[in-house]
Amino acid sequence: MPKIRLEPVRGMRDLIPPESEEILWLEDTFRKRASSYGYEPVILPTVELFKLFEVKSGPEIVRSMYVFKDKAGREVCLRPELTAGAARLFLKTLQTRPRPVKIYYVGHVYRYEEPQRGRYREFIQAGVEYFGEEGVGADIELLALVRDYLADIGLKHYRLKLGHMGILRTLLNSWSVPEDVQDEAIHLIDKGLVDDAVRLLQKHAAGNDVSIVKELPKCREGDPEKLVRCGEEVGVSGAALDYVRQLSKILGVARELGINDVYADLGFARGLAYYTGFIFEIESSALGLSVGGGGRYDTLISLYGGPSTPATGFALGVDRIHLALKEEGWRIPERAVKVLLIPLVENYAYVDRIASRLREDGAIVNVYPKPKVSAGLRYASSRGYDYAVIVGEREVREGTVTVKNLRTRRQAVVSVDSLSLGGLP
Ligand code: AMP
Repeated sequence: MPKIRLEPVRGMRDLIPPESEEILWLEDTFRKRASSYGYEPVILPTVELFKLFEVKSGPEIVRSMYVFKDKAGREVCLRPELTAGAARLFLKTLQTRPRPVKIYYVGHVYRYEEPQRGRYREFIQAGVEYFGEEGVGADIELLALVRDYLADIGLKHYRLKLGHMGILRTLLNSWSVPEDVQDEAIHLIDKGLVDDAVRLLQKHAAGNDVSIVKELPKCREGDPEKLVRCGEEVGVSGAALDYVRQLSKILGVARELGINDVYADLGFARGLAYYTGFIFEIESSALGLSVGGGGRYDTLISLYGGPSTPATGFALGVDRIHLALKEEGWRIPERAVKVLLIPLVENYAYVDRIASRLREDGAIVNVYPKPKVSAGLRYASSRGYDYAVIVGEREVREGTVTVKNLRTRRQAVVSVDSLSLGGLP
């Protein structure tokens, strides 16, 4: 037998408690919160046709994809994000439903990037997609949902950065920049390489002066009115200025929604090439990284061959949110009481009755498999148990159990008939 390598493949991770529990709690809390806004769950395949992403994901995503041929020779990939799959599902199955169609998902995604802190090759995204509504109300709802979810989980220090792809796209279109060059330039801007983007654009802008692209990032404003003024000052006009006004409106509403740390940046672009309008990103101050982002993609459905359908959505990086919370000193807020039940007699029905009672009250009840009190107690304290419940011959005879509180060291004999989690010592 060749020796098996025990390390996970580069960029992949084994997750064990407490991290695995914390991440699952973050996922569950997201599901509850998204449901509370009327989004419905979907479960999408991990493997999709590469074509789905090739069309409009943008150079960064496509370069970092796991692409391979399946046994039948199909060119498939591991999904690098879930919006494209959600759009495919919408077209195939959901488009005949009454509008709006609102869905949410939590799923693993794969990107072949250079691993580093907060950057993995397999990670979890939790997101929503809102199909069939072009008004800013849908975008604003996304912000309210993000606000509530981050409050639910207790993330304290984050900033919301807002932008609008319409501004850049309008300028680039007015200079007749070909679409693939636009996508590449937007990718460079997203990476913070504005000078490179300007150099690239200059070559494809039919002699137009593209220097305004360098000016846009100067307009970073928390104040909606100042944002519009700044846009005018750097030379934004016409349809592009209308988009600045729309962005300014959303910025104003975000403040009214109680999101305090929010600003708009006219030079902000997102690498995913399907974004067409309002975009946003959530930055964790503790982590110094983006923990989520999204925006409007009104042309993706028609690019996939469907009817023109407005759409907006976002995805949160669950692993990064977890890291950001840890950085803030966070602890999981709810934890079930953990009980180790140590039977010293072979009376399965009696043990089951006790375990069932406590489980009904919400406890985690783990039955220790050996009739050994001291080994059981060592196990319980090493695994963070709250109680040990011991069942010996005397207890069975008297219809009781002996309960040890492992935190306070208090001990009591409790009758099985009156056994409840709240009644433990
Ligand atoms: P995107 O789909 O690129 O907009 O990413 C959405 C979110 O996913 C980001 O804000 C991050 O929180 C998270 N994310 C993106 N790439 C990675 C990665 N390689 N590892 C962990 N999280 C990531």
